[in-house]
Amino acid sequence: MSLPDVLAGIRAAERAAGRAPGSVRLVAVTKGHSPDEIRTRILAHAALQPGGFPLAESRGQELRDKAAELSAERPEIEWHFIGPLQLNKVKYLRSVRLVHSLEDVRQARALAEAGAKWGHAPAVLLQVHNGEAQKHGIHPQALRSVYAEVVQTGLDVRGLMVMAPEGDADAARRIFRDTAERAHDLGLPELSMGMSGDYPLAVQAGATLVRVGRSLFS
Ligand SMILES: *Cc1c(COP(=O)(O)O)cnc(C)c1O
Repeated sequence: MSLPDVLAGIRAAERAAGRAPGSVRLVAVTKGHSPDEIRTRILAHAALQPGGFPLAESRGQELRDKAAELSAERPEIEWHFIGPLQLNKVKYLRSVRLVHSLEDVRQARALAEAGAKWGHAPAVLLQVHNGEAQKHGIHPQALRSVYAEVVQTGLDVRGLMVMAPEGDADAARRIFRDTAERAHDLGLPELSMGMSGDYPLAVQAGATLVRVGRSLFS
């Protein structure tokens, strides 16, 4: 697989779901891959998506180092952060436009504070716990109150993110559908759902951002 194959898969899933072409944005998950691989596998195809492909990393230092190198060549690259947000590593996220993985108000305060220093704060998505054996995410019963608290920090809350368990399509469908409903109830437009193994199901359920890694590099 390569990026054009994945993009074709997304367009096909959009068509099958009766959604407009381009309503889903492909976010390229580049963790573990070198700047050279990113240049040839992702950046070489940038023209295939308006605004190019956002690059997503899950570790602060790795993001900082790659952003320093790649953004020097291509300042238009949009960096996303998708990993667990440690308070002492927020300082590495200066280049980040969107954090997909915000889990509590302490993280929100740390990001808002850092943003005040930088003159810009990243927008955020709230990561929802998927109800399966998983450590991360806000439990659905707490979502509304966490959302209200995070908004109080001044951060721009754009939507929700969820991860489905691997290899269980029925669970993935249910989790994606429930998360779409929760975003709708909160009036939030962005839905970050779907990875290499399940992005067609996520597109079917209304994802606006899919986070694909492995399939772009294999
Ligand atoms: C690694 C990762 C992905 C990409 O998963 P693939 O299976 O490689 O497509 C998506 N989201 C998060 C949060 C990740 O950590």
